[in-house]
Amino acid sequence: MSQHIYEPERKLSVTASCDVLVAGGGIAGIAAAIAAARHGANVILMEREYALGGMATLGLVTIYLPLDDGEGNQVTFGIAEELLKLSIAHGAEANYPTAWLDGDDRAERIKNRYITQFNPHLFAIRAEKLLLDLGVTILYGTLAVSVHKRGGKITHVIAENKSGRSAIAVKSVIDCTGDADICHLAGAETAAHHGGNGLASWYYYFSHGKVNLKMFGLADVIPDENAVKDDTDYDNVMVEALDKNFRFSGFDGEELSRAVIEAHQKMFADIESARATDPEYVPVTISSIPLVRMSRRIVGAATQDIDTDRQHVADSIGMTGDWRKRGPVFEIEYGTLFGSKVKNLITAGRCISVTDALWDVTRVIPPCAVTGQAAGTAAAMISDFSDDFAGLDVAELQRNLENDGVILHNGG
Ligand SMILES: Cc1cc2nc3c(=O)[nH]c(=O)nc-3n(C[C@H](O)[C@H](O)[C@H](O)COP(=O)(O)OP(=O)(O)OC[C@H]3O[C@@H](n4cnc5c(N)ncnc54)[C@H](O)[C@@H]3O)c2cc1C
Repeated sequence: MSQHIYEPERKLSVTASCDVLVAGGGIAGIAAAIAAARHGANVILMEREYALGGMATLGLVTIYLPLDDGEGNQVTFGIAEELLKLSIAHGAEANYPTAWLDGDDRAERIKNRYITQFNPHLFAIRAEKLLLDLGVTILYGTLAVSVHKRGGKITHVIAENKSGRSAIAVKSVIDCTGDADICHLAGAETAAHHGGNGLASWYYYFSHGKVNLKMFGLADVIPDENAVKDDTDYDNVMVEALDKNFRFSGFDGEELSRAVIEAHQKMFADIESARATDPEYVPVTISSIPLVRMSRRIVGAATQDIDTDRQHVADSIGMTGDWRKRGPVFEIEYGTLFGSKVKNLITAGRCISVTDALWDVTRVIPPCAVTGQAAGTAAAMISDFSDDFAGLDVAELQRNLENDGVILHNGG
């Protein structure tokens, strides 16, 4: 339809103000809010749903991928490790990382990566308590829908929830929406992932006296004839399992609804087929948000590529391994977190500035926590409205991160 209407201008109440507004309470948003609050910022975290954790909890993606390089060395530290421990504080659902948490047998660490599986509901509640204890204000059911800008900076984030529409005055904003929603709304340069997303539909089911996780749509690696193959060849795993022809961008409202409906139907068929031989098979929890891997990202001061594997990065804010294979280590560049157009806006999580090739590495839980911690620490350093992320003292940011347990460089 090409019809349109004009919305009347309206006066909005400014209902709150904060130093740091975190938009999105997934893993990146949780880490960002923790870091900013610990560095003395007054933090508001705005979350569309009514629980924390995003994909990792409401999406039932409950495998905390590795903090190591697959060769026996831990490379990811700080809040990423703290959250892993929190996620299994009551006990792991599977893969308790004994060699990393209770021992130091190198051979065992090489054999078993620093990975675990957690209960999503307990983790969401534990994370909520941690943020509240740090004095973070959590606004659930609240969607960031617009921003108000002055002089290239965001002065207010406009939000909608049950109370209607209101404005929150901010010093800086961390976009942890996963889809770079705030970047898009604020006019920052963004880019879409070229391959988009395939269908996935993870759920927990009960069978034979046990609750199990069904990773329905396990991995989504676009077939690439030039890809270097290793033992963990994920090519086509997902497209074969669900629907090869259905791909979606992840930031189109109508298309997302279609993807969710399609995923529900496929999940239902999967359950029906299991019930044919196992009448006890019932779903106990299904993912309640769309499962989106790579959608839209900021175009940052730097766009990091996969060829930075094991390279020294001067402005590193922390490291990640590669969940898909043993060996690679990436020092994540500070410049991947912010762009040039909106000076007090920084990103974290699955919408930082990386190439399509590196995106599949940086979108998973540990690097989302690494970038969240860095963005939150940086945001707390924005002390007045004239500071911006591009001009931040990176050496001071790195010192703060190191003091908080982050190791910035490989072998460092
Ligand atoms: C099928 C699938 C399987 C995966 N498997 C694994 C795995 O096994 N292990 C692993 O480590 N990773 C896995 N991942 C990736 C990983 O789970 C996510 O990429 C990661 O958790 C993303 O964290 P995030 O905080 O960046 O974003 P998200 O988890 O997407 O969080 C974004 C949050 O922002 C909120 N939000 C969005 N827009 C707005 C707005 N405008 N206003 C307010 N709130 C908003 C959302 O509700 C959400 O809570 C998988 C992903 C998928 C889709």
